[in-house]
Amino acid sequence: MEAVNNSSEVESTPKPQVIYRCKKCRRIVAAEENVVSHERGKGEECFRWRKRTGDPKDWEKDAAECSSIFVEPMKWMEAVQEGYVEEKLQCIGCKVRLGSFNWAGMQCNCGAWVNPAFQLHKSRIDECRM
Ligand SMILES: [Zn+2]
Ligand SMILES: [Zn+2]
Repeated sequence: MEAVNNSSEVESTPKPQVIYRCKKCRRIVAAEENVVSHERGKGEECFRWRKRTGDPKDWEKDAAECSSIFVEPMKWMEAVQEGYVEEKLQCIGCKVRLGSFNWAGMQCNCGAWVNPAFQLHKSRIDECRM
């Protein structure tokens, strides 16, 4: 499959460039297109962002690196399928805990609120570039 796409801003590309795997059993748990991005440092820690001047790249240095990613609800998330509002997220393959979710939202370590939140800890997953 060759990419014959001349548009640089396609939202849902069928060919994921980054995939996330369970570190333990290597099962694919999310792809780039499933990731719900959030603006870093919003919410309660907003005050730290007052001095937003200069190069936008410098703003990022002030914010904590996000220690997890947030994704859409996925089929492998059994607790989601079972109707829980808030639960741990376990890998369907090896049952290791990958993160947690809350339909009411959760706060990222960078201060941003994500709502609803399906959080996967970066330390539990491997990011692979295709
Ligand atoms: Zn964050
Ligand atoms: Zn696993």
